[in-house]
Amino acid sequence: MAANCKLSLLDLGRLDVDDGFFIRGATAALQSNPHPAFERRRVAVVAAVVEHPAVGPILFDTGCVQNARDEWPEPAWDAFPRNVYSDEHHLDNALAAVGYGVSDIRAVVIGHLHLDHAGGLEKFAGTDTPVYAHELEIKQHYYAVATKEDIGAYLPGDLNWQLNWQPLHREETELFDGLVVRHMPGHTPGLLTMQVPTQNSGHFMLTSDLYHVRDVFEQDLTQGWLGRDSQSWYRSHRWMKQLQRRYNATMVYGHDASVLEELTKQAKTFD
Ligand SMILES: [Zn+2]
Repeated sequence: MAANCKLSLLDLGRLDVDDGFFIRGATAALQSNPHPAFERRRVAVVAAVVEHPAVGPILFDTGCVQNARDEWPEPAWDAFPRNVYSDEHHLDNALAAVGYGVSDIRAVVIGHLHLDHAGGLEKFAGTDTPVYAHELEIKQHYYAVATKEDIGAYLPGDLNWQLNWQPLHREETELFDGLVVRHMPGHTPGLLTMQVPTQNSGHFMLTSDLYHVRDVFEQDLTQGWLGRDSQSWYRSHRWMKQLQRRYNATMVYGHDASVLEELTKQAKTFD
């Protein structure tokens, strides 16, 4: 496995969200705690750029559509308002801050197609940039919107068949030399994680929303209202736990602001 990628994390703003969405039972009324506080957590929208020595810059996840206030359905905004979003959090500006333009991006890998991960695909409309996603996620996007079963989490506006979609089918794919993506369903049917090897900073696991926040991974909790298939999720979780130990990998979560801030304080780019 080649070990010479560079990784830069992108900070695409903050959402304020009830912890019950992330952690099962977090705000449940119990006999021992009949009146729990309904905590809302300020979480980050996280994406990443991996500079691969042979391929060039690869974007993992894309954040929300720039004009989310107007594009998102009102119930989605009410539950997950993006209350921090200055110029620096726009995808193109966040990319520029780590040295890339949108047109430098050679490939996009989509962890999953929910509204806060696929919205930035708007920047790739009209381009030939390959967009890698799992077959089941591409199918789920249409199904969720068409049946209205999960419309809101998946947006009709993010469904763009003219993008250069590149479906992945297998459980594990070495997409480019040393860069491995894995199908880890549970939060959504086609969720992909990506393992990024670097020369001096070890391995990183980009997990999209296999974990929204660090508590779920570190304390072996279960996904809250945003979880869809618990049994699949547990299988993915056990696999990720094993991989993290095997590679002593640094974990990057879909929305954990404290992890994002700690890592970006350590280095703008890990190499
Ligand atoms: Zn998310």
